[in-house]
Amino acid sequence: MTETVIPIFDLRDHRYRSMTPSIPETLLEPSGLVADTRARPLHDLRISVTDRCNFRCVYCMPKEVFDKDYTFLPHSELLSFEEIERTARLFVSLGVEKIRLTGGEPLLRKNIEKLVEMLARIETASGKPLDLTLTTNASLLARKAQSLRDAGLSRVSVSLDAMDDATFRRMNDVDFAVADVLHGIETAQAVGLAPIKVNMVVKRGTNDAEIVPMARHFRGSGIIVRYIEFMDVGASNHWQMDEVLPSTEVVRRIDEVFPLEPVQANYAGETAERWRYRDGSGEIGVISSVTHAFCGDCSRIRLSTEGRLYLCLFATEGYDLRALLRGGYSDLQVSNAIAQVWQGRTDNYSEQRSNPAVRQARAERKIEMSYIGG
Ligand code: SAM
Ligand code: SF4
Ligand code: SF4
Repeated sequence: MTETVIPIFDLRDHRYRSMTPSIPETLLEPSGLVADTRARPLHDLRISVTDRCNFRCVYCMPKEVFDKDYTFLPHSELLSFEEIERTARLFVSLGVEKIRLTGGEPLLRKNIEKLVEMLARIETASGKPLDLTLTTNASLLARKAQSLRDAGLSRVSVSLDAMDDATFRRMNDVDFAVADVLHGIETAQAVGLAPIKVNMVVKRGTNDAEIVPMARHFRGSGIIVRYIEFMDVGASNHWQMDEVLPSTEVVRRIDEVFPLEPVQANYAGETAERWRYRDGSGEIGVISSVTHAFCGDCSRIRLSTEGRLYLCLFATEGYDLRALLRGGYSDLQVSNAIAQVWQGRTDNYSEQRSNPAVRQARAERKIEMSYIGG
């Protein structure tokens, strides 16, 4: 691999550290199955379509960093829809069956429906429709739900961190109201973007009092709340272990009020551990990224807004796929280069997080969640 460090804005900004993947000498037709060094298949592609967002969630884009002087990517740097579609097709030929659009806030990307329409036409290597979904803060969802559905989106995940309006406004830090998110969710449900999942990042001392109210609000609605442990992604959110509320505690608190029982995972590699209400009023999920590493089953790869590939949410360096997409290489050459990158993958940061030396080595260099998507 040749290393290219592109000095576009600020060399301290690790968004731009990347290596250009090399093209293998022997090219193989993609077989729909590629595995990394731990035999983990490539199953799930997350595509960030913008690094911008209209929220400033305290755990993701704190205002003091993402202020008016912060340099977001210029439009000319972004992958075009045609480039994203081509990349998606190549990934599908390597075994990807699920694509999630994310960001930043994906609904801020102009004409996102057009991209959804292009991706919805892709079939998996075994001829099934792609599982195409999107994660959003729902600020534009009421306006866009119908057109997204018409474009072929299967379902959405919505982020909402509290039922209490004052707590939520403090967490999104742009004074956005809970009622407006709920309106987005209702509209998405009405147009058939289901099943809807609601993601709540739990920060001890900030919104953990909202765990039970969230469960109370959504049980019986068909909507699954997923409680996510606050993670040490990026370098700007001042993560502290004592602000992580373990998922076992989330389950204990809900079970005390609404008794729960465990449910089997839908498939190997599912990030959420599933629980259902014993009275049959639905289920919840907990994502224990910090207290219970699931690297052993991690089949996810991430594509940034300007075409860098990241093998792990906690990576410090990406692979410059855009250089290949714009370099005149054939589909076969690019898919073989991607396969080679995946085959060399060793990532397992969450399994090593408890080692202070590992944490320290990456502390200032991890990519931001708003850049790479959740
Ligand atoms: N803006 C969209 C949204 O909020 O749904 C999509 C992008 S956002 C980066 C994707 C997910 O990452 C959201 O559900 C968000 O709550 C989650 N997230 C961001 N920072 C996090 C952190 N430090 N720990 C855990 N989850 C985080
Ligand atoms: Fe924006 Fe989503 Fe990050 Fe909140 S979590 S700041 S909505 S990208
Ligand atoms: Fe996957 Fe990296 Fe998270 Fe482990 S730490 S589950 S390898 S994204």
